[in-house]
Amino acid sequence: MCSLCLQSPCHPRCPNTSEPKPVLYCRKCRKGMCVGDKHYDGICKECLDDMCADEWLELFEESMEMIEEE
Ligand SMILES: [Zn+2]
Ligand SMILES: [Zn+2]
Repeated sequence: MCSLCLQSPCHPRCPNTSEPKPVLYCRKCRKGMCVGDKHYDGICKECLDDMCADEWLELFEESMEMIEEE
């Protein structure tokens, strides 16, 4: 048992916990992502959450169609 937080495994806020090592870095914000974190195509969940429709389409290499005059 940890001598600081008296929990096993450590409380996530305990200074004794070892920082989880990032295994992947987000291609947008460069944040490190660890085992268990969610991402899509190398983009972290936080970035995906603030992406707008245009950015989504860009991700899928699609673009919006414009209605043109006939
Ligand atoms: Zn601890
Ligand atoms: Zn990100």
